[in-house]
Amino acid sequence: MVGQDIEQLIQSLSKLPGLGPRSARRAVLAMLEKPEQLLHPLIRNLIETEKSVVKCKSCGNLDSVDPCRLCSDERRDGAKLCVVEDVASLWALERANVFSGRYHVLGGVLSPLDGVGPEDLNIGALVARLSDNKMEELILALGATVEGQTTSYYVVDRLSDVDIKITKLAHGVPIGGELDYLDDGTLGAALTARRPVT
Ligand SMILES: [Zn+2]
Repeated sequence: MVGQDIEQLIQSLSKLPGLGPRSARRAVLAMLEKPEQLLHPLIRNLIETEKSVVKCKSCGNLDSVDPCRLCSDERRDGAKLCVVEDVASLWALERANVFSGRYHVLGGVLSPLDGVGPEDLNIGALVARLSDNKMEELILALGATVEGQTTSYYVVDRLSDVDIKITKLAHGVPIGGELDYLDDGTLGAALTARRPVT
C-alpha cells in the first residue's frame, strides 16, 4: 500500500511504548502531510537529543548535562534520597512536584523469571552513595508489584549495616501499580504518607 521507506518508518514508530501500528501509521501520515510543521522539527529534535543526552553518573537520570540538573541543584534536600525503578518513575515524581530531595535510579527491579539479579541493578552504587554522603532518609519508591516489593526487601537487607532511616510509599499505590501510571495526586499522597520499613 505504501513505499518501503514509509513502511519502515511506521514499523520503527510502532515499536515505541504507547504507539501501536495504527497510531504509528496515523502519526507518519500526519508528518508526511505537514512536513514543515511536524516532520522537520521532529528530525531536528531527534538529532539534537541523540547528541546531547547523557545518563547522570550520580543518580542515573537522563539529561543533557552530567551531573544532571537535579543532582547539581543546591536547593534540593541532600539528606533525602528517593530510590526509583526507572527514569519514568523519577520523572513521574518530579511531575507530581512533591519531592525535593535527591534520586537514585536502580535501572529495573529484581525479577528472577526475567533473569534480572542484583548485579544487573544499580545497587552497589547506591550503597557507595550512602556511605559517602550524609543521608538521613532513604525512601523506597518502587512500584507495588511483586518485583518492586522483592527489590525493596532486598535493598533493606543490603543496607542493614547502614545507619539510615528507611521509608516506603504508603497505600495509594495500587497493588501491581507502576509509578509512571499514577496520577500526580495519588503519587503525592503516597509519598507524603510514607512509612518506615519494618
Ligand atoms: Zn543526577
